[in-house]
Amino acid sequence: MGDEFEKLTDGEALRDPLETMARQLLIEIGENPDREGLADTPRRYARWWREFTDYQPGVIDTVFESVSSNQTVMVSDMNVWSLCEHHLLPFNCSVSIAYRARTSILGLSKFARIAHKHAHKLQLQERLIADIADEIEKVTGSPDVAVVGRGEHLCMTMRGIRTSSLMTSAVYRGVFEKEGPERGELLSLLMGGRK
Ligand code: ZN
Repeated sequence: MGDEFEKLTDGEALRDPLETMARQLLIEIGENPDREGLADTPRRYARWWREFTDYQPGVIDTVFESVSSNQTVMVSDMNVWSLCEHHLLPFNCSVSIAYRARTSILGLSKFARIAHKHAHKLQLQERLIADIADEIEKVTGSPDVAVVGRGEHLCMTMRGIRTSSLMTSAVYRGVFEKEGPERGELLSLLMGGRK
């Protein structure tokens, strides 16, 4: 956005380049972008893309001193929406995050903020889950982190095979990585405490 962009501002309202693209898209699929109902669509389209990609998660690293260690904390079933980078179609993902506190514990609302932060970009479910695990590891300073995602992908349910299904992907790190009591506890927490 250098000099040429500034020249255009001379008395005229700037048009988001995404609006121009949306108008072109409507023409390409055989629509009349000037008909009633579509007149404002390019503007809305541009605004939603900006809103999606400019998402601000707020403060995500508020930690408290840990009073007891050896406790698994899980925040489960946080529903986030993201966009598949292969088809630019939405997928929603139910995210569960678990970790074992070492020296600091993470404020409860931060889990959802972190999940939304990594969902608000073009993603793959597997990478979304790994990105969340990286961030949880970073802010808590604990290597014992597990993240499980269950996603429904519109690129599978409304195109291609057109079958509704859930895809599960999981990242287990630290004590959760190997078979052991922590892993067993984690799986039982994931199943809602049922054995
Ligand atoms: Zn896809």
